[in-house]
Amino acid sequence: MKPEYAKVYIPGGENYAHIKKTLRSRALFTVCEEARCPNIAECWDSGTATFMIMGGICTRGCRFCSVTHGHPMPLDPDEPRKVYESVIAMGLDYVVITSVDRDDLPDQGASHFASVIREVKKTGAVVEVLIPDFQGREDLLDIVIDAQPSVIAHNIETVERLTPSVRDRRASYRQSLHVLRYIKERSGITTKSSIMLGLGETDEEVERALDDLRQAGVDIVTIGQYLRPSRRQMPVVEYSSMERFRKMERVAYSKGFSYVASGPLVRSSYRAAEAWVSRRY
Ligand code: SF4
Ligand code: SF4
Repeated sequence: MKPEYAKVYIPGGENYAHIKKTLRSRALFTVCEEARCPNIAECWDSGTATFMIMGGICTRGCRFCSVTHGHPMPLDPDEPRKVYESVIAMGLDYVVITSVDRDDLPDQGASHFASVIREVKKTGAVVEVLIPDFQGREDLLDIVIDAQPSVIAHNIETVERLTPSVRDRRASYRQSLHVLRYIKERSGITTKSSIMLGLGETDEEVERALDDLRQAGVDIVTIGQYLRPSRRQMPVVEYSSMERFRKMERVAYSKGFSYVASGPLVRSSYRAAEAWVSRRY
């Protein structure tokens, strides 16, 4: 039976309506909507949103993800300006930017990503980005690093054993660790990653993944429950107990992460501003 936390709240409220109007008027997407994030009511009502740039269609097809897969549209060269204007209109001081994967483009969208970062930084907001793996290409990671966001996140999503059955075949656990390690070694920028529980992983496997992330120099980790967005995505294997989340939080802190968020509805960008402000150094 589904636990209470798995019941998604219906969004509402004044800020929610304001953000939706601001985004629609500029044809912008949010991961909050596309991924059917369970925190949408809380985040939008408190004025936080995660922009999803480079369109609403992903070239990859991860089995847990509800973003539309297929052949994406050309990039909108005006998108950096539109995101800038939306950040101003929404009065955000902490902005999370993520994207679909664009394996169809020669630079996989790295330059476009960097342009959006540079524009949003002009607002004075702290910028966090959640990036694709760019197929592990260091020259493309350099383009994002050079735009100097405050936090760069890249998600391993699950433990090593389950990666081939959970993520798109072009993603790999080791490639994601390489991405995170390279960013830290090359730039020293704060790095972050996320793991979902509930896909059939053991606690030992999660601990191994946390060790691997620390070895790659990752600073912040978030641990959440996989919630099946619709019947088209893979089923939940297990709903984890609050005790399991509390245990994983203790374990992660003991491994030296500077900030850990662990709970059923925790997502990569959940309370991201809080993670940035309260990280332990
Ligand atoms: Fe979803 Fe996977 Fe595409 Fe990310 S790369 S948007 S998780 S399908
Ligand atoms: Fe959006 Fe992130 Fe909040 Fe989910 S946790 S609603 S993706 S800002």
